[in-house]
Amino acid sequence: MRALSLAGHQPVVLDNLVYGHSEIVREVLDVPLINGQVGNRQMIEPLLSGQHPELVGTHFEGKPIEAVLHFAAYAYVGESVSDPAKYYRNNLGDTLTLLEALVAGEQPIPIVFSSTCATYGPPQAIPMTEDHPQAPINPYGRSKWMVEHLLRDFSRAYGLPCVIFRYFNAAGADPDGDLGEDHDPETHLIPRVLDVMSGREPYLQIFGDDYPTPDGTCIRDYIHVSDLADAHVLGLERLLRLRERQEAQREPLIYNLGNGTGYSVQEVIEAAKAVTGRGLLAHVARRREGDPAQLVASATRAREELGWRPRYPDLNTIIEHAWSWHQRRHFS
Ligand code: UDP
Repeated sequence: MRALSLAGHQPVVLDNLVYGHSEIVREVLDVPLINGQVGNRQMIEPLLSGQHPELVGTHFEGKPIEAVLHFAAYAYVGESVSDPAKYYRNNLGDTLTLLEALVAGEQPIPIVFSSTCATYGPPQAIPMTEDHPQAPINPYGRSKWMVEHLLRDFSRAYGLPCVIFRYFNAAGADPDGDLGEDHDPETHLIPRVLDVMSGREPYLQIFGDDYPTPDGTCIRDYIHVSDLADAHVLGLERLLRLRERQEAQREPLIYNLGNGTGYSVQEVIEAAKAVTGRGLLAHVARRREGDPAQLVASATRAREELGWRPRYPDLNTIIEHAWSWHQRRHFS
């Protein structure tokens, strides 16, 4: 939202607040927040046309929404295995309702969709390009992969302009220090490492050290959230330009978002030690189900077609920003 505002756009946030943080949207970002469900067609339609009751009396009143960035989803892989219905209902079913609303008017409303490298499944080649076969291995990945299919079909049939971003491992925090991740439960590696280093957790579990990688731990491609945000602005603006030139788009534009450099769990721990000057207690635990040994992106297409240039590709910088946020969030 911050990147959109800085680029001169005027975002409105729709969030059901199951995992969202209303105070961040309203107070830090100073952006209108509608509390609601993407799958509620009666609420979505007036929102898209600027007639939603909460927009009345604001400068958004009567102004149709120009484009949608669709981030809303459940994203816990383990939970998606034990409760797939929840994932298909929310990630797939609600998105179908949203897409129907986007193509209901005279002109379809462009959409930027957050997909994931989890739609690829086990890598057959590293780095992974957008043409890598997709064979997701858990319901979370499959729900995102199915939405990609919806988007492809809606694009072909109704001319829905759309960008699909496949994120690799989102990490870091806004360099200003006032925005960052806050999950409950926290499952991601970097915040967990920082939780242990700051004494919030007693030890870290390393999920497997017998993978076919140089140090035996899993390798991931960590991408700074601000770089992800930049890509969204570029993707959105590309869709708006295509629309302005009235260029019909019959296929989604698909881009990987990663740095193209992989770091192992061990390397992340070492980098975090260097950044924070602290140590940590770590135990090797069993492999986590569904974890491929390596996931590393080729993001050449986003660089070439969108002119995307990650500003914070360095792992130490990513951890430094995450650490500033972590200190501010939990200790000030
Ligand atoms: N990981 C770990 N201990 C943790 C959390 C994660 O060893 O407490 C590993 C995990 O197995 C994976 C990598 O760190 O190989 C990144 O995991 P994360 O959950 O951050 O992202 P994912 O790759 O699952 O999207």
